Amino acid sequence: MVNTSKKPRFRFAPSPTGYLHVGGARTALYNYLLARQLGGDFILRIEDTDLERSTPESIQAILDSMKWLKMEWDEGPYFQTKRFDLYNQYIDQLIKEKKAYPCFCTSQELEAKRALAQKEKRKPMYDRTCYKLSTSDVEKKISSGEKHCIRFHSHDEGSIIINDLVKGRVEIAEKELDDLIIRRTDGSPTYNFTVVIDDMTMGITHVIRGDDHLNNTPRQMQLYQAFGATPPQFAHLPLILGTDKKRLSKRHGATSVMAYYEMGYLPDALINYLARIGWAYKDQEVFTRQDLIEKFSIESVSKAAGVFNPEKLLWLNGLYIRESKPEDLAKLLPHYLEKRGIISNDTSLFVELVKISQEKSKTLEEMADLVDFAFKETRPDEALQNKFLGKENKPHLKLVYDRLEKLENFDIAGITNVFTTLVQETGLKLGQIAQPVRVALSGKNISPGIYEIIRILGKKTCLARISKYLE
Ligand code: GLU
Repeated sequence: MVNTSKKPRFRFAPSPTGYLHVGGARTALYNYLLARQLGGDFILRIEDTDLERSTPESIQAILDSMKWLKMEWDEGPYFQTKRFDLYNQYIDQLIKEKKAYPCFCTSQELEAKRALAQKEKRKPMYDRTCYKLSTSDVEKKISSGEKHCIRFHSHDEGSIIINDLVKGRVEIAEKELDDLIIRRTDGSPTYNFTVVIDDMTMGITHVIRGDDHLNNTPRQMQLYQAFGATPPQFAHLPLILGTDKKRLSKRHGATSVMAYYEMGYLPDALINYLARIGWAYKDQEVFTRQDLIEKFSIESVSKAAGVFNPEKLLWLNGLYIRESKPEDLAKLLPHYLEKRGIISNDTSLFVELVKISQEKSKTLEEMADLVDFAFKETRPDEALQNKFLGKENKPHLKLVYDRLEKLENFDIAGITNVFTTLVQETGLKLGQIAQPVRVALSGKNISPGIYEIIRILGKKTCLARISKYLE
């Protein structure tokens, strides 16, 4: 059970070394949902101590993704690179208490020791050469400027027990853990140390993260013990796999959150889908955010890896699009039209276009494809021209052209009447008449309803577009 004797504080702590992955977003989501459910706080912390791999673009991508998914954080973003003084204070404390010590071994020396251990089939562990140095030796080395890192001194006895909210009980003998480097020779503190100092000083009560960190947790628990602090409750989430049960990667399609934005997904659909990877509530598939906040529970997170199924996500997105208010979608559509070179601020037209395409669009990209006819003329490709705008279609097109030209009430009723009358008079099928018109007006054979297209384009544009295929 999630312990809530203190104000619950959750955090999402991504490293800015790439885009925000959908797996990372799911981790953020579970933290966010529980924070909201329990009336706690949700904190965003950017773990940017890896100076070589962290980039400003990646920080931006994390912030953009979080905002797009509407996972508002209550505090932060904190940046670890701005907290080095704090980390150093805690390192000094450990040194003073003899719980940490400087290590002067060079990387060549360590490498040689490691190679020897391997040769002798021993687990490579630091042999504590520098722990055994006398105080005066240490002082001499430091004052002569000898390079050194700082290591945490691990215990040889006892064991670390983690009662993980997802994985259950995990126990590790402390003698398996060697003396962890907590500050590198270049002065930068290491992940396992900074994460503990942050979680401890930020009063984090729950750490929900990927199970790739489960191996780090015993080391972090040792540090909590060293500081006499109560560790947070941990929940390690199983990995997300592709439909082929291999680790989710680019081979399976887009894995970056913002790629889903660009592909025309709705944030609520993605949130709904991410929540369901590895978590279930009865057989419910569709959840509003409020629903998720109320129903999510870490106890129901599956111990087995979840599968990311792009087809299911697409289906869900279609459902969200169909159920959205046209006015809401109309605000999102311009971005996708702009990608097609269409700049407009005709809000009422956007609303109309959404209304006629919503049922047929599974993404906003599909929607933009369906409605670009309203802004630009697209020449159909050759295959479509041959099939729908060839010689035998011209007489039908001409019939429509003449009737539309004469039509006074250019509304849906009037336009519908043109086609139904033509079907009656000629004995042709509706498709035989409508399909060539559709292709001539939109450049495509799949489009919103043809009567709607004609009404939205208006008489002049319709006649101009059709006439190009009459010659
Ligand atoms: N910065 C780590 C990562 O991005 C997460 C650390 C944590 O959640 O404890 O993998």
